[in-house]
Amino acid sequence: MTIPGSTLITQIGELVTNDGGGFTAMTDAALVIEDGVVAWTGPAARAPAADSVVDADGRAVLPGFVDSHAHLVFAGERSAEFAARMAGRPYQAGGILTTVAATRAASDTALRANLRRLAAEMLRQGTTTFECKSGYGLTVADEARGLALAAEVTPEVTYLGAHVVPPEFTGDVAGYVDLVRGPMLDACAPHARWIDVFCEDGAFGADEAAAILAAGRARGLGTRIHANQLGPGPGIRVAAEAGAASADHCTYLTDADLDTIVSAPLVATLLPGAEFGTRHPYPDGRRLLDAGATVALATDCNPGSSFTSSMSFCIALAVRDMRMTTQEALWAATAGGARALRRTDVGHLGPGARADLILLDAPSHAYLAYRPGVPQIAAVWQSGHLSAGSAS
Ligand SMILES: [Zn+2]
Repeated sequence: MTIPGSTLITQIGELVTNDGGGFTAMTDAALVIEDGVVAWTGPAARAPAADSVVDADGRAVLPGFVDSHAHLVFAGERSAEFAARMAGRPYQAGGILTTVAATRAASDTALRANLRRLAAEMLRQGTTTFECKSGYGLTVADEARGLALAAEVTPEVTYLGAHVVPPEFTGDVAGYVDLVRGPMLDACAPHARWIDVFCEDGAFGADEAAAILAAGRARGLGTRIHANQLGPGPGIRVAAEAGAASADHCTYLTDADLDTIVSAPLVATLLPGAEFGTRHPYPDGRRLLDAGATVALATDCNPGSSFTSSMSFCIALAVRDMRMTTQEALWAATAGGARALRRTDVGHLGPGARADLILLDAPSHAYLAYRPGVPQIAAVWQSGHLSAGSAS
């Protein structure tokens, strides 16, 4: 029997499906795409006929990466700051203001071009779903503009007016919080699915973060948080109380934080690109996993602390420096990201899943960490369409 309009990918050396709860894979496998979704998976020897056939020739097929944390609406770049930091100057949250100034000064055209360039760069590297935050405008008009642009490239749009207090509100944090949860929220909520707060010394404290998240939630937005990146703090508790989907960074966790993450539950989204780019200690992925936490990996792509869009790089860091297995890291970069975005249609390749998948130029997912820095994404399908690379 031939499924009309279908594509069969066969002779797959390792097919990672993640359809068994955790990391799940089969060898000598095949997969059928129909109407943009996965219609069938199983042994290559039992594969049904299809209208077109792709021979994977022993290579691996993985779910497309789900990057649940990225800051892509910005102008300018900060390579000099990075170089200075690597030469010994410490990272401070205030560096964000450099990008705020450049973003406010940029035209819509320039912001859109930079955003689309980064989105295309992600796709070529296997990322088929990504979240995108505002947070470099910090005025009502600039935040709303950033979110409208983000909504052109992804449904996972996050309002981050509470990224840092802008210079015109220096000494008046309460005034800025009122703006973020008032008129700015009014202008931004129609463009966004999520609201986020940078809860950290030098950014927003527990009470401020809680008030902002509560206001967003009252407007129907899902909640998420930047927490415990630069030191211990109240962010995990605030996230749990706000019913957040995910607490992101989680670099400094007390035992009580760990208990909260597991019991809330919160997805712990780890962003090792930020520790790489700031030379901070990596979060302890092993400790979280051993405690039973759900872990996601994301890039935190932004021009200050983590200017990488590569999920493969984050997987390699997680395996090498956060004591995650290759299987745990691959799951965290796919199904984990989907959990962090409360999505059930992506991050796995079971029948009915969106046909977002990667053909890897290697026989197993382990090569992502085994051969760090090497381009290995041969082809990428989004909703069943070949969107990047070549399937031959
Ligand atoms: Zn971030």
